[in-house]
Amino acid sequence: MLEVRDLTVQYGGIQALNRISITVPAGETVILIGANGAGKSSLINAIIGMVPIRSGQILLDGKDLTQVHAADRAACRIGYSPEGRRVFPTMTVQDNVLAGAARLGRAEQARAYERLAGMFPMLAQRAGDLAGLLSGGQQQVVAIARAMSAGPRLLLLDEPFLGLAPVWIRQISDAIRQFRAEGVTVLMTEQMALPALKVATRGYVMRGGVVLRQGGIEELRGAALAEEYL
Ligand code: ATP
Repeated sequence: MLEVRDLTVQYGGIQALNRISITVPAGETVILIGANGAGKSSLINAIIGMVPIRSGQILLDGKDLTQVHAADRAACRIGYSPEGRRVFPTMTVQDNVLAGAARLGRAEQARAYERLAGMFPMLAQRAGDLAGLLSGGQQQVVAIARAMSAGPRLLLLDEPFLGLAPVWIRQISDAIRQFRAEGVTVLMTEQMALPALKVATRGYVMRGGVVLRQGGIEELRGAALAEEYL
């Protein structure tokens, strides 16, 4: 479903991704594991068009996204949650979440919010509060719910578990499983691989802009352990 072929991303003289290739089969949850600077965010950001690519292809169901303007990629039903709890602090929790669902009608938005509040009860309890008043973990949930709000078919989550308490990790993991059960394809990144390995179906270990290993979860658990990503 998503295929990245020979992708190179460069920032000035720094090569963040060096001819990297990954495949994310439809309906799977794929994790990119790697330390700081491995290139995980660069890969996600290249998929949504936030960083320019130097060469390579990003195919979503055979369509080359590198030929689609970044502003038009949301119409391809790609949901994206950035690293680092980005919320609009002076907007309410509900408006933050629904900012991701602007293309839906009002009734659909209400249904989407209700569904997400079923996964994350905090969204019901704090719907009218300003997002800037929430804890870090709650803000992360808001950012992830925003990515999920428009009914994506591909969900990109950049470090969704970073620094979170177990209660939020559990809720986010359950939500990812629920989306997968509905056929949504997920690509997520993590430095702290353990919680992510519980939810992913396969993955890649990255370092210095290249893939070191790839495979099923059991193989990766061994590799990640040996390379101290757990
Ligand atoms: P992290 O977990 O810290 O986000 P990462 O695996 O996501 O790490 P990237 O953020 O993709 O890695 O960074 C890959 C490389 O590109 C690093 O060497 C980083 O310093 C460099 N880099 C990332 N963004 C920029 C930028 N905007 N300008 C210059 N160099 C950058």
